[in-house]
Amino acid sequence: MPQIFKKSSDFSRREILGGSLALGGGLTAIGAGVGAGIGAGLGMGIGAGSSGSTGFASFGCCGAASAQEAANPEREIVEIARGLWRTRQNRHHGLVIEGQKGLLVFDSIDQGFAGWLKSQLGQMSDKPISHVVYSHNHADHVSGGEMLEADGVRYISHELARDSQMRSRLKTRYADTTFHEGLDIDLGDRRVELRYHGPNDGRGSISLRVPDQALLSVVDWVLVDRMPFMDLARYQIDGMVHSTEQVLDMDWELMAPGHAGMGGKAEVRNYLAYITQLRDLCMEHVVAGTPPEKAADLIAADLGKVDSFRALNQFDAWVRMNATGVMDQLARVEGFIDPFPPVGGTLD
Ligand SMILES: [Zn+2]
Repeated sequence: MPQIFKKSSDFSRREILGGSLALGGGLTAIGAGVGAGIGAGLGMGIGAGSSGSTGFASFGCCGAASAQEAANPEREIVEIARGLWRTRQNRHHGLVIEGQKGLLVFDSIDQGFAGWLKSQLGQMSDKPISHVVYSHNHADHVSGGEMLEADGVRYISHELARDSQMRSRLKTRYADTTFHEGLDIDLGDRRVELRYHGPNDGRGSISLRVPDQALLSVVDWVLVDRMPFMDLARYQIDGMVHSTEQVLDMDWELMAPGHAGMGGKAEVRNYLAYITQLRDLCMEHVVAGTPPEKAADLIAADLGKVDSFRALNQFDAWVRMNATGVMDQLARVEGFIDPFPPVGGTLD
C-alpha cells in the first residue's frame, strides 16, 4: 500500500512564513483579457462527465498508463509545507492548497484519482473544496474533475485549456472561470496566483504560485530531475525555453512540477540550460542538413559532456528521442520540411 500523508522527506527546505496576503476581493484578474466567466459564478459551468468521447483518453504528455498502473494505481498525499500537499497518482502530481475559505485542488488527474482524493480530504483539513484549477488541457492531468463537484466550488483554467477540453470532449467538469494573462485567487489568509506564459505544452498551460510559501508549480514543461518527455511531440521547444525563462524571473524557492521530483531555482536553471542547448544543437544540425540518425548521435554526445545533464533521470533512454523530435519540430517550423507535399508539385 502506498504511504499516505507522509511528510516530505525528499526535499528539505526552510520554513517561510509570510504574513497575511488576503486581497479581500475573491478573484482578481491580471492583465487586459479576462474570460467571460469571471464574476459569473457557476452559471457558465458545463458538465462533461457523461457526454464526451473517450477516444482521446490517453493523449497528454505521458501517454496511457500501463495496464498495471491503471489497475493498481500508486497514490499518495505528501504535506510539503503548511497547509500545502503534493498529490500523486503513479507519475502524475498535483497539489492541494488550504486557505481560510477552503481547499484549492490543482489538477484532478483522472476520475479514479479525483474520487479517491475527495475521500481523503477530510483527514487533511476541515475545510471544504472551494476551487479546482486545471494546469492545462491534457486528459492525463485534468480528467474526472466532476468528482470534486460540490456546492460553491469554482472551476478555473486558462481560456485555451477550456476551449481545447470542450472541443475534444474531454471527460471532466469544464472551467466556469477562465483567464487570459493571469488570475489571483483569494483563499482568505492565502493568495494563489495563476499566470500564463504563452505556448509551451498543449494548450493553456499555466504556472501556479503560492507566495506565502514561495512555491511554484508548473506541469509538464518544467522538470527538475528528469529529462523532457521522450520526443516532445506535444511540446513547443521555443515556448518551453521562453516560458521557463519567465518563471525563473518570478519569486519562488520551491518548484513542485507535475512529474518527478521537486527542486529549487538551481535545478530549474540546469533544466533551462539543457532545453536551450538541445534546441540550439538541433537547429545547427537542421541547418547543416546532418542526416537525422547521425545528428541525434552527435547531439546526444555533446549534451552528455555536461555532468548535470547526464544526471537527469532518463538521460540515456530519451536524449536521442529529445533530439530527433526537436529537430523534426524545428525543421517544420522553419520550413525545412513540408509536411503536406503540394498537390501537382507547386508551392503557394
Ligand atoms: Zn504530464
